[in-house]
Amino acid sequence: MLSLVNPTPAEPTVEPPASHGPGMTEAPLLAVEDLTLAFPGAGGWQPVLRGLSFEISAGELVGLVGESGSGKSLTALAIMGLVPAPGRILGGSLRYRGEELLELPEARRRKYRGGRVGIVFQEPMTALNPVLTIGTQIVEAVRQHRRLSKTEARREAARLLDLVAIPDPEERLKDYPHQLSGGQRQRAMIAMALAGEPELLLADEPTTALDVTIQAQILELLQRLQRELGLTVILITHDLAVVAETCRRVLVMYAGEVVEEAPAAALFDAPAHPYTRGLLGALPHLGRPRARGQLTAIPGQVPEPGQRPTGCAFHPRCAEAFEPCPDREPAAYDLAPGRRARCFLHQGGDSP
Ligand code: SF4
Repeated sequence: MLSLVNPTPAEPTVEPPASHGPGMTEAPLLAVEDLTLAFPGAGGWQPVLRGLSFEISAGELVGLVGESGSGKSLTALAIMGLVPAPGRILGGSLRYRGEELLELPEARRRKYRGGRVGIVFQEPMTALNPVLTIGTQIVEAVRQHRRLSKTEARREAARLLDLVAIPDPEERLKDYPHQLSGGQRQRAMIAMALAGEPELLLADEPTTALDVTIQAQILELLQRLQRELGLTVILITHDLAVVAETCRRVLVMYAGEVVEEAPAAALFDAPAHPYTRGLLGALPHLGRPRARGQLTAIPGQVPEPGQRPTGCAFHPRCAEAFEPCPDREPAAYDLAPGRRARCFLHQGGDSP
């Protein structure tokens, strides 16, 4: 986790597509619409994603941000078709280039999983098989999605390690995961996620387990891959500092919903949702140094499934809650092109 950041988004390294988010003119690469994912609990199915909706354009690097328990990782698993049992998607739509993923038979869904869509998990030591060499694992991933001989797949595995800047790739293919450093293991995971030549890469907390220097290198790598391969990347993180350094657009999630969506510069300049303001208030800021201990944490916790409060799910923690908040659920109000917030403070589309 970064210890000191300036939450001003870094200059973009890539020109984004002409427009993104609501109001975008081109067809989205991925459209998530009204998605509800639930787990059984006392009293029936308890939603953990609740009418989730957002769109991702080809070539974007988008940050999906929120505290632990906000539903970010389950969103990634739902996109991959890997919802853990006994969870179930109860409704909504997941369209990839217009094709409804939720209606695909498993055999065709597998072509997406690890093929058109790759995923990088937070902890490579648990995602990689400790008893197989890196080479065996990447070769297997390559051959699962591409018609290559073993020799060709091994050459491709070495190329992928080189692409993610692992030195001496031929030799590293012979290593077991524990023989690599933490940063190299995460690079190897990224190489494996690229084995099926994906268009979309889901990076789920890819830097959380790494120290600050290695974290910065992995973020740079993701930016470079996005630029050089034309990848679309959804960067999932609890850390707005990571988003500030990397992304052009941000989706903020709370209790299974997107509560704010905005270009990164606008979000960091004038966050529209009290939850986003809370996340930003908890960040150290180089431009406005604060004494140790003066960072303001958001009181309370993300509600557990089944314990969701009535009205706005954030109201018990919100310093700005007012009359309608405990009783009614706010809609997502449009504030500007590509910008919306799920909060009564913006009812009527007031500017943030
Ligand atoms: Fe706070 Fe009310 Fe807005 Fe919810 S709707 S974030 S409780 S002001």
